[in-house]
Amino acid sequence: ARLYGVRDWGSDYFDVSAEGNAVVSLQFGEKTIQVPIIDIVNGMKERGLDMPAVLRIENLLDQRITQLNEAFAKAINEAGYNNHYRGVFPIKVNQQCHVIEEIADYGSRYHHGLEAGSKAELIIALTQLKDPESLIICNGYKDEEFIELGLYARQMGINCFFVLETAMELDIILERSRALGIDPLIGVRIRLASMVEGHWNEDSGDRSIFGLSTNALLGVIEKLKQADMLHCLQLLHSHLGSQIPNIRNIRSGVMEACRFYAGLIEEGAPMGYIDIGGGLAVDYEGARSNSTHSMNYGLDEYCYSIVETLQESLEPLGIAHPVIISESGRALVAYSSMLLFNILETREHKPGPLPDSAPDGSHDLIVNLFSVLDYVNVDNLQECYNDALYYRDEIRELFHHGQASLRERALAENVTLAVLEKISNLLPQVRRVSQELEALPELMSDIYYGNFSLFQSLPDIWAIDQLFPIMPIHRLNEAPVRDGVLADMTCDCDGKIDNFISPSGVTKTLPLHPLKEGEEYYISVFLVGAYQETLGDLHNLFGDTNVVSVHVNEDGSFDFRREFHGDSIADVLSYVEYDPKLIQEQFRRIAEQAVRDGKISVPMRQQMLRAFRESMNGYTFFER
Ligand code: PLP
Repeated sequence: ARLYGVRDWGSDYFDVSAEGNAVVSLQFGEKTIQVPIIDIVNGMKERGLDMPAVLRIENLLDQRITQLNEAFAKAINEAGYNNHYRGVFPIKVNQQCHVIEEIADYGSRYHHGLEAGSKAELIIALTQLKDPESLIICNGYKDEEFIELGLYARQMGINCFFVLETAMELDIILERSRALGIDPLIGVRIRLASMVEGHWNEDSGDRSIFGLSTNALLGVIEKLKQADMLHCLQLLHSHLGSQIPNIRNIRSGVMEACRFYAGLIEEGAPMGYIDIGGGLAVDYEGARSNSTHSMNYGLDEYCYSIVETLQESLEPLGIAHPVIISESGRALVAYSSMLLFNILETREHKPGPLPDSAPDGSHDLIVNLFSVLDYVNVDNLQECYNDALYYRDEIRELFHHGQASLRERALAENVTLAVLEKISNLLPQVRRVSQELEALPELMSDIYYGNFSLFQSLPDIWAIDQLFPIMPIHRLNEAPVRDGVLADMTCDCDGKIDNFISPSGVTKTLPLHPLKEGEEYYISVFLVGAYQETLGDLHNLFGDTNVVSVHVNEDGSFDFRREFHGDSIADVLSYVEYDPKLIQEQFRRIAEQAVRDGKISVPMRQQMLRAFRESMNGYTFFER
């Protein structure tokens, strides 16, 4: 547990049992129930759900929704704030039907609503939310169809807000609402000058592509006044960016938003709602710091800061406390999902067997390499490193010009590897090492080939160097004696993971166990419930993975509530416009021609067509 820092990033939801298994830890009143993830994997295997797979723990979604809503309720109560909190989940963070259904279901007791950024997302929100008190917040560009849908919702008593991203949208809203005779609920998204730290700092500031400038906001007010619709303007929206690591940025953003809120009231808008957007971070690193993958605050502090800032900014102006809306996505769903995969094989970067000394008649350079191997010690690491690489490169040069044989080159490379391995093992005994020696352990590390696609399941690692906690889910009471990086199944040099979270900071390799003959080795990437599933792509035509939703019961048993089989090869081919039926027919024709040409027999043709059909219906990942 200590080696992988699970108690730092696991937020009490994950731990390691005495038997050495990664467990999901759930609180039922005073009772803590721990379920080994490997037991769920075994259950998946029995149900024909192969690796890789996304495992969703429904209870964690439920707990996160509860914790967020309860934390706001507590802050509101303790501060004597005179209004309530209404969360909305941004659908784009995880659009999967069962996630939205679960959020709508678990969230209904808190009137937790949904945020939609497109027509498709609005359709999801309209049909999935069952609670009439929940809000639907519509962000993003809206055309006539989008606006009509929202207006019909409004007519049916659904609290559906149009948040203006640009002044242009207002014309369509005014025209459609007049034509249909329905009063809209309008919000304005403002562009805050407050900037934040972290990856998503371009969501705020003057050059943000989102929201209205102060001047454009005045234009909107004028237009609403002229149309006699200022009474529809009830909500102020701001979003500083996702994964905000520093609470001070959140405070100053809310403070600035309050100034706009007060300004809009001064202009005569009724207002009543303030939406502070997303940004509540996830401590992927477990460092409790303001670094990009961490956060220097807890959930309670987040809620207190917002409630207090609103109170302190608005009360002196005599402005009634607005309903607080937040659009937390990441913090709500990240914990509930993990990506599980098995390791297919490993490549050890180790020297092969070597003779004790250079064979008789060896080239001088090879003799020299053997003596470097002999005299390397803690006091001459850098010198031996330089010498070994020099002699090896000289042999390569001779090979290039036909003056050294294949066997001589292989021997030189093997002795060099032995020297580097010795240096790497001695490094911990040395106080200061050069940069090139520091990189040696990574260069000497193993490659563990995992049955997954980085591009399909963990796109943020590739796109923005996101860090996720990663560890094996079993054998954790055995010392992980190997150090490795993880490679995926795609034929792409970017398809690898070589940055890992550890208690001592970010490391280039992960401690791992050697594979055992005839036994699977399972790895989990944790906290992947936000953004990963729908941002993933079909690189090398690896499709969606299997997905399992599990509900843990109070007695420690668990139910497989939902199972989704991932894409078949026929599915992914159809996504890129191939017709699977036509493809089968094309293969049949090729086989028939081969029969005609006497290359295969008719029974062989039948066998081939059967295998082809099975492949088309099979999983896109490695099947054992
Ligand atoms: N609201 C808006 C408008 C967003 O653009 C985003 C994402 O960046 C979110 C909410 C969700 O943010 P988070 O996942 O950080 O909670």
